[in-house]
Amino acid sequence: MIGSTPAMAHENPASSRQALQAHSDEFAKKVVQVSERVYVAVGYSASNVALIQGKDGSIIIDTSANPNDARAILAAFGDKLVKPIRAIIYTHNHPDHSGGALVFAGNGKPEIIAHKTMLSAKPDVGRGRREGGDAFGVSLKADQFINAGTQLEYGRTTPHTREGFLPPTRTFDGDELDLTIAGVKLKLIHAPGEADETVAVWLADDKVLFSGDDLLKTFPNISPLRGLPTRPVEKWITSLEKMLALNPEYIVPGHMSPISGETAAKDALTAYRDGIKSIFDQTMDGIGKGKTPDELVQDVKLPPNLAKHPYLQEWYGGVAWTVRGIYAQQAGWFDGNATNIFPLTPAERAEKLLAMTGGKEGMLKSAARAITDKDFQWAAEQADYVLAVDAKNADARKIKAQAFTELGERQKNATARNYYLTTAQYLRSNP
Ligand SMILES: [Zn+2]
Repeated sequence: MIGSTPAMAHENPASSRQALQAHSDEFAKKVVQVSERVYVAVGYSASNVALIQGKDGSIIIDTSANPNDARAILAAFGDKLVKPIRAIIYTHNHPDHSGGALVFAGNGKPEIIAHKTMLSAKPDVGRGRREGGDAFGVSLKADQFINAGTQLEYGRTTPHTREGFLPPTRTFDGDELDLTIAGVKLKLIHAPGEADETVAVWLADDKVLFSGDDLLKTFPNISPLRGLPTRPVEKWITSLEKMLALNPEYIVPGHMSPISGETAAKDALTAYRDGIKSIFDQTMDGIGKGKTPDELVQDVKLPPNLAKHPYLQEWYGGVAWTVRGIYAQQAGWFDGNATNIFPLTPAERAEKLLAMTGGKEGMLKSAARAITDKDFQWAAEQADYVLAVDAKNADARKIKAQAFTELGERQKNATARNYYLTTAQYLRSNP
């Protein structure tokens, strides 16, 4: 038994570890030449930085996570960089894309271009790393950490700061902006998806599309664990439609390797659009039939051909979370079962259950048996009943930590793995 999301977990910890370790190859450090005048630095930072050579200067798309990474990328571009940098374009506000602008700007005065909605973009709400949980595994011990799903690591070696961020000097409202910079003709397209303010950049003469994080080689993080609203799913589908209509020959995503060839580009964009749309449509259909989120998580799956697609593997986002996120976004928090209008508090429920099952001792015995039976989710849930009435119960915390270690080690989803394992680490160091 491994819970309700088997697509993201293996029965065997070694095979999960191997799969996620192999996924780290996607973040290998390299500068890739995409077209005659386009290069992208992959794996030097948490996100990619792209370079477009112009007649009398260069354009930089995204700026990496921090000044250190930005300096390494500038060095890696070397004499490919046609000086000066005339413009920096942000695909979106996320700190891993916008944290190194200061270094690329140097002593020059490049225009810094973004969509107007970036000015009001908010950082993640977060939830104070409840019980130490963290999707990026920032504090996880090195032997437990593999990667962060769309990057080798984020925030482990360099803390998140905004010291290298520069605010946009030019923004556009509306859907599109045509620009010529250093003799290079570009179309900027507002493409809400992973972020509301996402800008896709279209270099029509080279047929190169810069997709930001709207297309990544993983199931999209539509409804992340880390504490922020569900992404605008319907707009994301529309953005992918717009990208498909361009018929790109190359795609440079915000993380991982570029895609080369019209067929491969179309295949990835189509799978992404169809995958998101299928989960959205199935969820909406189920809501219409009165199904609860718990029921929908059991029913809604990617169609078999898409479930196998390399761009829809659940390394970062997850289908089950997307279903729950869409439900909350479209139908609200209430699942339709009147029992849940004003449910018992966790402590009240636990007290009543414990009275039926031999008290804390009986529940803990049963939880320990669940660990032996490899029924780890049930072990964690039973530990929670004890913790609901006795938050500092050392045995319950120990069982919960054991359960999370086992569940985490079986995850191929990096964010779930990191969240389980950092919570387990926290419980062990705060017994
Ligand atoms: Zn990103």
